[in-house]
Amino acid sequence: MAEQGPPKKPTPAEDREIDYLMCGQCGTPCYVFEMEGSKIIEALCLVCGNDEVRMFNIGEEAGADDE
Ligand SMILES: [Zn+2]
Repeated sequence: MAEQGPPKKPTPAEDREIDYLMCGQCGTPCYVFEMEGSKIIEALCLVCGNDEVRMFNIGEEAGADDE
């Protein structure tokens, strides 16, 4: 019999973890980054070498940033 993986639990929207960042320069998903809460504190695109955190977008929709 084929083995089935454990069922995935849907994650609540508020409690979602960021899987990757989108590089704003080349549009590649980047997995080398560090977050503090919902803020990007460090990121590196291995494709184009972009390491400017402001040039990265959170892969999941971030929503409005009201501060
Ligand atoms: Zn890039």
